[in-house]
Amino acid sequence: MNDRVKALNSKPAREAADYVLYWSQMNRRADSNHALEFAAGLANQRQLPLLVYEGLTCTYPYANDRMHTFVIEGVPETGRRLEARGIGYHFHLRRTRQDPNDRLYALAARAAAIVTDDYPTFIARRHNASVPAKVDVPYYAVDSSCIVPMSQFAKREYAAYTIRPKIQKLVARYLKPVETVKVKRAFRLTLDQQATPVAAGTVAALVASCDIDHSVKPSLSFTGGRLAAEKTLTEFIERRLRRYTRDKNEPSAHATSDLSPYLHFGQISSLEAALAATAQADETKVMADVFLEELIVRRELAFNFASYVDDPESMANVPDWARKTMAEHATDKRDAVYSQEQFENAATHDPLWNAMQKELLLRGKIHGYYRMYWGKKIIEWSATHEEALKTMIYLHDRYALDGRDPNTYTNILWCFGMHDRPWQSRPIFGMLRYMSFDGMKRKTNTEAYLKEIEFLERTGKDPFRIA
Ligand SMILES: Cc1cc2nc3c(=O)[nH]c(=O)nc-3n(C[C@H](O)[C@H](O)[C@H](O)COP(=O)(O)OP(=O)(O)OC[C@H]3O[C@@H](n4cnc5c(N)ncnc54)[C@H](O)[C@@H]3O)c2cc1C
Repeated sequence: MNDRVKALNSKPAREAADYVLYWSQMNRRADSNHALEFAAGLANQRQLPLLVYEGLTCTYPYANDRMHTFVIEGVPETGRRLEARGIGYHFHLRRTRQDPNDRLYALAARAAAIVTDDYPTFIARRHNASVPAKVDVPYYAVDSSCIVPMSQFAKREYAAYTIRPKIQKLVARYLKPVETVKVKRAFRLTLDQQATPVAAGTVAALVASCDIDHSVKPSLSFTGGRLAAEKTLTEFIERRLRRYTRDKNEPSAHATSDLSPYLHFGQISSLEAALAATAQADETKVMADVFLEELIVRRELAFNFASYVDDPESMANVPDWARKTMAEHATDKRDAVYSQEQFENAATHDPLWNAMQKELLLRGKIHGYYRMYWGKKIIEWSATHEEALKTMIYLHDRYALDGRDPNTYTNILWCFGMHDRPWQSRPIFGMLRYMSFDGMKRKTNTEAYLKEIEFLERTGKDPFRIA
């Protein structure tokens, strides 16, 4: 067993099986995928073909047009690439609650073993806790999200400064392309179950046919799928990486990668992004270190956090000093208090904050630097710290294409002191780090950003759209 693989039950493999099944829950890609290659190796060992199952249901919390569109747009290319490798692909869209919720189990009934993604938040976390006991074959969860596997950290790390030296020691061992396993037996079976056919032109109709929240529209800025993910990475490496260190905290400069939606849905791997950035740095002498710090150290700190706690969404995870200081300032007077609905509707007194919220509503993502300000102001303008946490999680779960991710809950809790240090005390925040409107004005081009978001809202068009 390698250091990415966990056996989540101890059932024996089915002897008279037709295939090995890879249930692609989070790493929705045919390339650079350790879980897929592990499954291909298992299939070869047992002289069986490999079948990939990708499902999308209408029942997960906040299922809406935005998330559905992004996922379904990826389906045709995933199918093409797997089929070119002789691997079967079965995509199933469960459109209504009346449709049976048994596709995984039906496919598992003919499988020798199930391989899936090891992922520490949202639905995949719950599936991996409950499904292994309900199937009668081995169930393996493979970490194909992180460059240094989560298993390499024996405990929950305190902050970036504690995980960084460990990552630096190990990263060379793992910063290598994933080896492709050639399948020995091509998948030629006919399944009893009907897959949902998807073509580029049918995505909107499929989404419309689902019993989901149609009020959250597809992103104006991001197309889902492997081809869009590859285009976004290429654009970043060729045009933005050289500006990243200088401009990453200037939202209107568009110097960051915009990869987070693709990373979240696993349409590209962080390993591919890191390898591309490293190669570009070697070739052109551009510095990639600041980007790699975010992509590897910060991102993998988030996976470490989520994998070691019982509930990644809970305030109980912040350090004692932060909980104490919030308790001391629980009843401090708030000059403005907004409800979740007012935040959601971008209806505060602060035009800059409202623009950030509109970016979330329209693009499905807020620039990283402004997201810190966005979170800090929700703390300042909510009745309680707990209510602020609930609002931030709700808005991310519902609207962010990169939401529901280890990065989501880790960074939201960062606003409440996690992975941070105490600062000088002040009202409402106590010793939590504070961010001010004047600071944003001084450090960033707020006028350019306000214009950009106003244009996006007025025209419904994003001039910065990459793919
Ligand atoms: C309140 C708040 C909420 C956030 N919610 C999310 C979220 O839901 N999903 C999400 O992916 N990120 C979240 N972040 C972290 C960060 O803002 C985004 O990862 C980043 O803005 C994504 O844009 P990018 O891909 O252009 O980033 P780039 O700057 O190009 O970075 C490349 C990649 O590195 C990773 N990364 C960058 N910054 C961080 C960070 N601070 N912590 C961990 N990983 C990082 C991401 O995977 C990102 O895609 C949040 C930050 C805050 C303050």
